[in-house]
Amino acid sequence: MTTPIRLRNVTKRFGAVEVIRDLDLDIEPGQFTVFVGPSGCGKSTLLRMIAGLETISDGDLLIGGQRMNDTPASKRGIAMVFQSYALYPHMSVRKNLAFGLETMRMSRAEIDRRVNAAAETLQITQLLERRPKALSGGQRQRVAIGRSIVRDPDIFLFDEPLSNLDAELRVQMRVEISKLHERLGNTMIYVTHDQVEAMTMADRIVVLKGGQVMQAGTPLELYNSPANRFVAGFIGSPK
Ligand code: ADP
Ligand code: MG
Repeated sequence: MTTPIRLRNVTKRFGAVEVIRDLDLDIEPGQFTVFVGPSGCGKSTLLRMIAGLETISDGDLLIGGQRMNDTPASKRGIAMVFQSYALYPHMSVRKNLAFGLETMRMSRAEIDRRVNAAAETLQITQLLERRPKALSGGQRQRVAIGRSIVRDPDIFLFDEPLSNLDAELRVQMRVEISKLHERLGNTMIYVTHDQVEAMTMADRIVVLKGGQVMQAGTPLELYNSPANRFVAGFIGSPK
């Protein structure tokens, strides 16, 4: 599914502190959008507002043309993958993947079909009967992504999902996630503070600083024509 996301004059306050300021943003359907910016600039807050895990103080959130400000997280058609991919240690991989579906009204056959399809997509079919402790970091992260895929969401949100992995595995998983996007074609937003991740994975990059958009564009546009010194410095362009 390819669903657009629109943010209109979105502000987020925690008490008196404004952490997102009057932000306008169009996330195009089917694109792989990367939010990049230094720690504390509001990336996670923005993602959590889109996911419905955080309220919006002012402004509008539109998903697929519908105003979603007050829609519960479970009704937004969104799956979120976090950095800390807590798997249930006492359950097999198969059970970890199926667990979220078993609380929904879904037939056993449909659950099995989805689990097997997700496992195939992520190439973890041979790991389905193992426990999480018998998996490598990368394999665990795949299972965590698998738990999102089985829910068949319209939109995937990733909040620094690779930060806990070592450098080599990070590179490998970047490629895996890009392939996943190619295969599924969904709207995906990926948050990172890593410029290289942003430049190599994104269709479109949104550079954030202090709760505001510094610039949005393709990696090449940002590299060739950074809007300001901050973007230039962050993206690593020579200007
Ligand atoms: P990032 O993900 O870019 O590192 P965050 O979105 O986590 O940034 O945080 C943005 C700002 O909002 C930070 O200054 C952070 O301290 C603040 N913040 C985040 N969550 C809360 C909260 N629940 N209560 C108060 N302040 C928060
Ligand atoms: Mg964060």
